[in-house]
Amino acid sequence: MGLDTDTIRRDFPVLDRTVNDTPLVYLDNAATTHTPTQVYDTYDDYYSQYNANVHRGIHTLSHEASQAYEAAHDRLAAFIGADSREEMVFTKNTTEAMNLVAYGWGVNRLDAGDAIVTTEMEHHASLVTWQQIAEKTGADLRYIRVTADGTLDMDHARELIDDDVELVSVAHVSNVLGTINPVRELADLTHDHGGVILVDGAQSVPTRPVDVQSLDADFLAFSGHKMAGPTGIGCLYGKRGLLEEMEPFLFGGEMISHVTFDDSSWNDLPWKFEAGTPPIAEGIALAAAADYLNDIGMDAVRDHEAALARYFIDKLDARDDVEYYGPPGDVERSGLVSFNVDGVHGHDLSELLDNHGIAVRAGDHCTQPLHDILDIPGSVRASFYVYNTRDEIDRLLTALDDAQQQRDTLLSNHYHDLIADYYHNPTNPDGLTNATFRKHSAETSCGDEGEFHVRVDDTGRIEAMGFQSDSCAVSQAVASLLADHLTGANIDTLTDLDGTVEGLLDGDFPDMRRDCVVGPEEVLQAGAREHLIDT
Ligand code: PLP
Repeated sequence: MGLDTDTIRRDFPVLDRTVNDTPLVYLDNAATTHTPTQVYDTYDDYYSQYNANVHRGIHTLSHEASQAYEAAHDRLAAFIGADSREEMVFTKNTTEAMNLVAYGWGVNRLDAGDAIVTTEMEHHASLVTWQQIAEKTGADLRYIRVTADGTLDMDHARELIDDDVELVSVAHVSNVLGTINPVRELADLTHDHGGVILVDGAQSVPTRPVDVQSLDADFLAFSGHKMAGPTGIGCLYGKRGLLEEMEPFLFGGEMISHVTFDDSSWNDLPWKFEAGTPPIAEGIALAAAADYLNDIGMDAVRDHEAALARYFIDKLDARDDVEYYGPPGDVERSGLVSFNVDGVHGHDLSELLDNHGIAVRAGDHCTQPLHDILDIPGSVRASFYVYNTRDEIDRLLTALDDAQQQRDTLLSNHYHDLIADYYHNPTNPDGLTNATFRKHSAETSCGDEGEFHVRVDDTGRIEAMGFQSDSCAVSQAVASLLADHLTGANIDTLTDLDGTVEGLLDGDFPDMRRDCVVGPEEVLQAGAREHLIDT
């Protein structure tokens, strides 16, 4: 039987609000989920009844806070099948949990000659962390390939995981492809070669039953804010023996046992890794979120998500203007789908969906190397949770139906006419073949990417300007507007462009697109300055 979404939705008052005068459809759950009243009531109760520091006060409130905080560890440990609270460390989020393994275990353990294996589909939180550790320790960093259907190439994994490998770090569920990776198989392979495996559970723990025993995971990292819990709290599970061996990475407060002027010793697990005042209210509220999900049943959560993803993919399969990424609909996948609509930049799509009250995520989702492999600057991601319904997906599909036309309406309704005109009639949008200089730009926050081309004659006069761009409609239009406006000017003009576009538009552009207006000016300015220094 499916989830009773009507009842569940009553627990999430935010779902009753409107956005842009239409009922909210929240499909950005892989970024952050909403929080049910049961969870923030717990939070409220803590602050109104027993807010106090833990393990430090000989008074009733501190005693109550300590008990609740300790019990929260027990409940989170049970949620993922850990043996005991000693194996459950509270951190700030998944990123911090993985950095704890990197700095507490990796830096002390790895050397030149060792290898770390990760995958091409990792979130930056893992990929960049292991890049840093490889650089610091001299260890070799290897990436398991992603196949064309968005799964891991397990033959390649078997090639890469050898006796040099000390650590394998893998996302259980890809936050872009929705792929569910074969963690147990990877764990067995890793253990056969004497290594340990860290599982990034940011997208799996909130959405499916995760049991560290059956996965045989050595470490598992996850975040509260993706599982109906609060922000500011995440968890690191570690096998007790490994955590006992591991060095703390932050010092002071809660993690101390005894200190002299010469030496210090550390508290017992898990407090050894929870320096300073820990996230007490957040930890207690996260345990309430785990209870909430347990009451629904994690099998039911998984099935609900999979059914919504399949429903959406079936509809996408029936249209030829949308490309989606990751395994096809008949392969089990998680409840998130990343896609692009022909001819509509993801940022524009996200904005026009917002006009329909629909929240999705657009950009590279902190997986730039994966987007390079997919050969796309970014994608739009719809991600589902326990409160989402087929009706909401239908609303998304209706909004997508006419995306191109809506994009044009968006441009003409929301922006200065100049922007719409330049988007439709760009100046040299294929760039220049004989440019005097070029300046490339990549916007890391949203995935916009482009290049300005400028041709200058012997007197310093700009003969022509053009651009090549994968950016959103507004960025492209602004690049074009600048190209047109500045042709014929002296190259020196380009070194001080601040406010040029704003002036041309009479300041008439929406705040939320300010970066798209200012960004091209900054790139062109930097390119001109570099050129003048070089010549
Ligand atoms: N790993 C994956 C797969 C994710 O999807 C995310 C967040 O989107 C993270 C790690 C990082 O999570 P946090 O920002 O909570 O640290």
